[in-house]
Formats: sequence, structure tokens, C-alpha cells
Amino acid sequence: MNDTLFGRIIRREIPAAIVYEDDDILGFKDIAPQAPVHVLFVPKGEVIPTLDDTTPEQAQLLGRLMLAAADYARREGFARDGYRVVMNCREHGGQTVFHVHLHLLAGAPLGHFGTA
Ligand code: AMP
Repeated sequence: MNDTLFGRIIRREIPAAIVYEDDDILGFKDIAPQAPVHVLFVPKGEVIPTLDDTTPEQAQLLGRLMLAAADYARREGFARDGYRVVMNCREHGGQTVFHVHLHLLAGAPLGHFGTA
């Protein structure tokens, strides 16, 4: 079994500030926010460790992560101001939890980013 921290949050074994849920995806606030709004969107089904482990069959699920973030942004009223979605992959991407997830960052101008 491929257990992860986010699997434990999905199963409600450890607490999280859950702000979004549908049949396939859970959204909860990042414990160390990098912006005024920082929400993680995670597939609730079988654990996919990284974006590099995905297959064409999972294209719809990956798209649904994006749509969940966009839906949340509209619902919370910051879609017009804008936001950023990010998926980190492995070491050079800065990934620390190996359970694929999409970051939603918003609530202030975020500026551009590079290697820093
Ligand atoms: P990544 O570095 O892309 O793998 O993102 C993992 C994110 O999970 C980081 O931004 C962490 O701050 C966040 N995180 C770690 N533990 C928790 C937790 N218990 N609840 C919510 N977010 C967490």
C-alpha cells in the first residue's frame, strides 16, 4: 500500500482545513502557506506519486484538478484578480509529498519566478 501524509488527510486520520471536495478530489489549506490563499488539490483515489508517474488514462483526472482549482477560485471570488496553479515534480521541482497534488496560490500579486 502506498500510504502518504495526504492519504491520511483524505481518510480523515489527521486533521486538515478542508475547503473543497467532490467525488474525485479533496482540497485543503497548505499548512505552510506561500501566499494569502494556498490550497492543495489532491486526487482521492489510487496514489499517484508524481506527475512523471501519470499515464494518458489519467488525463481526465489531471484536468479535473485544474478545474477544481478554477471552480474554487470563482466560488471564493478571486478568479478575476487571478491566481497561480503549480505542480512540483520530484527533487528539482521541490516536491516533498509524493502524492500528486496541485497548488493553488492567490490573494496577492505573486510576481514572476525562476530558479530562486
Ligand atoms: P510539495 O512540496 O509540492 O510536495 O507540496 C507539499 C505541500 O504540503 C507543502 O507546501 C507543505 O507545506 C504541505 N503540507 C505538508 N504537511 C501538510 C499538512 N499536514 N497539511 C497541509 N499541508 C501540508
